[in-house]
Amino acid sequence: MSAQMHPRRKTVFLMYHELGRPGLAAQQSAASPYLVAADVFRMQMRAIRSLGLRGLSVSEAMRYPEEPSVCITFDDGYASDWTAAAPILREFGFHATAYVTAGFIGTPGYLTADQLRELDASGVEIGCHSMTHPDFTVLPDAELPRELGAARVQIEAVLGHGVEHFSIPHGRYDQRTLAEAGRAGFRTVANSRPHANGSATGPFELGRVAIGRDVALVDFVDVCGGRTLWRKQLADGARRNLRGLFGACSALRAVAMPFCCPPPTPRT
Ligand SMILES: [Zn+2]
Repeated sequence: MSAQMHPRRKTVFLMYHELGRPGLAAQQSAASPYLVAADVFRMQMRAIRSLGLRGLSVSEAMRYPEEPSVCITFDDGYASDWTAAAPILREFGFHATAYVTAGFIGTPGYLTADQLRELDASGVEIGCHSMTHPDFTVLPDAELPRELGAARVQIEAVLGHGVEHFSIPHGRYDQRTLAEAGRAGFRTVANSRPHANGSATGPFELGRVAIGRDVALVDFVDVCGGRTLWRKQLADGARRNLRGLFGACSALRAVAMPFCCPPPTPRT
């Protein structure tokens, strides 16, 4: 049968942040709804394999292979990308993309330059997650090149090769952000809108589903199969409407959290 008679399936892109070591998980998870214990992450990778899916990087997923798969991504550039996630991904033979915040490299809790190179050499694809993790919707025009082009150049200088993929901090962006991402030479931009992606999805409009500490395994399995995304889309729409009505005040931040990155660790 021709390819037209078998439209390519959509791929769910998963969005992780930090993984926690078992001894630290309880304490840390109280502070971050996005911290997933390493053993829970391993269980989720096992579930992906049991479903007959493969874990792919963004570059691999963008080819939209016929083979059933999920795309695995990490935001912010936590040290746990190297210390916790990479070994588990290797156990399962899965690939992934780690979006790194350039200005956080070498600061407490985040990847050092050496770890970033080791992560890259281990086969985890490296992407960019801005320079300082700003809210792009309130960023002055003059600062856009630093947060996109300069951040890309800084990460490329550490790696010694090109970086093609960008993910949006806090999931908040506007058309200026996407235009500047194009000028900076990125090939794709991923946001935090919970939809699966297919060959008809614009490369600068890649949706992702946040996986936080409270995701039950049964729900994780449904998400990977794309079965419950409509519920998340309704919730996402409601949150965006609330933010549109009231602005991003602190009281609403808690409501909006499931679709934002956590606030960065205070810089000293
Ligand atoms: Zn982030």
